[in-house]
Amino acid sequence: MDWNTLENEVKNCRKCGLADTRTNVVFGVGSREASIMFIGEGPGEKEDELGEPFVGRAGVLLDKMLLAAGFSRDSNIYIANMVKCRPPGNRDPERAEADACIGWLRLQTKLLKPKIIVCLGRVAAQHIVSPEFKVTQQHGQFTKRAGIYLMGTFHPAAILRNPNNKEPAFADLLAARDLLEQLTSADA
Ligand code: URA
Ligand code: SF4
Repeated sequence: MDWNTLENEVKNCRKCGLADTRTNVVFGVGSREASIMFIGEGPGEKEDELGEPFVGRAGVLLDKMLLAAGFSRDSNIYIANMVKCRPPGNRDPERAEADACIGWLRLQTKLLKPKIIVCLGRVAAQHIVSPEFKVTQQHGQFTKRAGIYLMGTFHPAAILRNPNNKEPAFADLLAARDLLEQLTSADA
């Protein structure tokens, strides 16, 4: 499976009920050569409308923080969501929806082969890092699984709700950048 085949399949996916209410499938965006991948929860209204992850208010903040840490979706990161279609009213994705969709994320991860995966928020972290993950207690901690470093941090929407979360969230991004530099220089 190559990227374009995968993207095409996902854009036609009807494996769960979210297919009935979506406007656009939000596949993911960024460099397909990136060594680091960021994973959100699922598309919101704006993402559903435009077909791209993190393009609403939370996304603008995320892009700013990423840029300050040396990351950009235009060059060196890949961004995707746990579920590719918008849950109506921005509710949390149901377990069955996440289970139906996560196979796509696994295939994206296989193609990308990232060294680091950063989960944005509880929903992604609980599916990908550990089922009981608590962002406030465990953010910024790296665990290695199948050769990939996994970390969970605050969702940008949680930073908009509580600006006190910004500093620790940014520190987590810097830690990811530093780890990536270490891992990349170890390769060279
Ligand atoms: N929140 C997410 O988790 N993902 C998006 O793409 C947008 C908002
Ligand atoms: Fe398919 Fe995922 Fe969309 Fe459900 S949310 S229809 S599994 S792409």
